[in-house]
Amino acid sequence: MEVFIEPIARLINEFSYLPGVGKKTAQRYAYKVINMTDREAREFADAILAVKQKVRFCKVCGNFTEDEVCDICKVRDGSTICVVKEPKDVIALEKLHEFKGVYHVLHGVIDPMNNVSPNDIRIRELLQRVGEGEVKEVIMATNPDVEGEATAMYIAKCLKPLGVKVTRLSRGIPIGSELEYTDEVTLSRALIERKEI
Ligand SMILES: [Zn+2]
Repeated sequence: MEVFIEPIARLINEFSYLPGVGKKTAQRYAYKVINMTDREAREFADAILAVKQKVRFCKVCGNFTEDEVCDICKVRDGSTICVVKEPKDVIALEKLHEFKGVYHVLHGVIDPMNNVSPNDIRIRELLQRVGEGEVKEVIMATNPDVEGEATAMYIAKCLKPLGVKVTRLSRGIPIGSELEYTDEVTLSRALIERKEI
């Protein structure tokens, strides 16, 4: 006999798919849902459906947006592009209120061990944007780990013939760490003290 009746087991199972959620935590989340009012439970479920229905990728930068083009691409200075691995890195940088340009989200980094080649991430789209001629600087803000460094170097090499300035976040961020978990002072400094590559 199963320990949990089917609807509860199903919900625990769904929660356990979330990153960092083990069986115990999934059970606690499920109990919390059971104790919600009908209205709270509906709002919770609606929020999940709404992100799937409303959130898409900006056709220019690849960041999350509700429209075809995101708010950052609509209003900001397009002469500087900051290249990041994932949408969450845009959030980490935006929190600094330091960068006034636009972004380019790669949706991954080159990772031969896991069969991710340059064609699998949004490098072609970046070269196209830069090729249009408005861009003066591209800041490589991939994570300072092996794959992030290799991707930054590869893209810098591709951008060279286009005559654009390419910079890299300075070495202040500990090697192997992620932008998302870097404290704001360190990340700000890494951005301000970026070096040409
Ligand atoms: Zn955008």
